[in-house]
Amino acid sequence: MVQVDPIKAFSDNYIWALKKENKVWVVDPGQAEPVFDYLKQTDTTLAGILITHHHWDHTNGVVALLQAFDNIPVYGPENSPFEGISHKLNDNDEITVADTKFKIISTPGHTLDHICYMNDTFCFTGDTLFSAGCGRLFEGDAEMMWHSLEKFAEYSDDTLIYCTHEYTQANLKFALAVEPNNTDLLTYVGKVQKLRDDNQPSLPTHFGLERAINPFLRASEENSLIHVPKNLIQDVSENWQKFAALRAWKDEF
Ligand SMILES: [Zn+2]
Repeated sequence: MVQVDPIKAFSDNYIWALKKENKVWVVDPGQAEPVFDYLKQTDTTLAGILITHHHWDHTNGVVALLQAFDNIPVYGPENSPFEGISHKLNDNDEITVADTKFKIISTPGHTLDHICYMNDTFCFTGDTLFSAGCGRLFEGDAEMMWHSLEKFAEYSDDTLIYCTHEYTQANLKFALAVEPNNTDLLTYVGKVQKLRDDNQPSLPTHFGLERAINPFLRASEENSLIHVPKNLIQDVSENWQKFAALRAWKDEF
């Protein structure tokens, strides 16, 4: 049985540990120390590393991990500026780690190299999709990011989503401004509050919930922009333009 555990890093990152018996694969190790601690506590060894994109808080632990565990694969995007990737991946590639098959989808927007590791049971979405939010557009544009988010449509409601940051509560404040009367959203706000009060991660989330409450996945809904400041709304004949207006509001929220 494969287990996915959170390893806390920095102030609000999770390095997800994919554990199968005594072997572990980590996703986006921005720090090495918390990974070493986890391996010690669980009496496991590191079998591989998965990278979603080049940002330092997702990759800075790789060198130290490779010094301790040489010859393990480092999976990551083919077009990444991060130089530590040994197994380069492109859109629609497939890999098997921890006896689990993942399809790679290219999701440019937050960065140009961003990929997500997908299957219908669970997925790692890095900084592309958060609970109740999505990544900032540092390198790509809104049209690109919208088409990246559309790629999640084929995954089932039950698919668990392991994203990299504990941004859920801040994202929910914005989601409530977008849809103050969304009852699923109001219920979820209470649930997350309780988890965080108990010092528990709000993650994983799942696509069924995100489709009901995440303003960025709901950008194409009929009334998605009714609360958005008018100065941020220009031509919204295309769905990506509605997404762009929401993303612009979130950036200044
Ligand atoms: Zn990032």
